[in-house]
Amino acid sequence: MPTVVATDAPCTGLSVIYNDDGSFDQYLFYPQNPDAVIVDTQVIANAPVKFLIDGMGDALGTYFEGLASLRTESPSLEGIGITRSGMALAKCCYDTLVDYGSQAVTACEHNVVTPALEAIVEANVYLSGVGADNVNCAGAHSFYNGVTSLGGHKASHGACVAFGTLVQLILEGAVKELFEEVQSFCLEVGLPVTLEELSLSCDDEEALRTIAENACAEGETIHNLAGDVTPDELYAAIIAADAMGKEAKQR
Ligand SMILES: [Zn+2]
Repeated sequence: MPTVVATDAPCTGLSVIYNDDGSFDQYLFYPQNPDAVIVDTQVIANAPVKFLIDGMGDALGTYFEGLASLRTESPSLEGIGITRSGMALAKCCYDTLVDYGSQAVTACEHNVVTPALEAIVEANVYLSGVGADNVNCAGAHSFYNGVTSLGGHKASHGACVAFGTLVQLILEGAVKELFEEVQSFCLEVGLPVTLEELSLSCDDEEALRTIAENACAEGETIHNLAGDVTPDELYAAIIAADAMGKEAKQR
């Protein structure tokens, strides 16, 4: 019974294990997902809106990471093939975010439950969690793991996954329309589009190179992307995503 919807963890069949300094250690996979997950949407509406927005960031990666994994015929997060139903959940997750994200933020800011808020709770917890389990993660979650490798990071999981989704789109050579659609969503609901919003700096090359290096470590889901993503390519994409975020904020 989650009391915040800041990640899709409640519905997934796995736990993420961290080291004491907050850096990523490993995924722990369970034989099955929870039998039931119960969410009281009034509790969510009463919780700080930041958690709802963070959860949308985590959910933002699901469709794009699934698509990337499908393209390379990667297994699902649970180690089986990626199914049409898994991809349908992931697509529904993204569509729900775009359709209802900003309305849900407003409802939560006023501590009221509306159909939009309920739709986003479903997207953040169920569609994202069961979706991701049945597709897979890719660049967005590896970017987050890279950030945690710095130790003592301040940015939330969802905030990093949202920015990581923009980074992944750049790595994939997404066309302007698609990139701007996702970036606009982030701006609309208050998810980060720049490094500064993650308490990182584009001038701190050493930290960004460390993130890129560790995000590309063996076993990282970034390798579900087509081509062999190198730390140099990831570093370039991080810089580009940040620069485009700054441009968008000035518009
Ligand atoms: Zn996540």
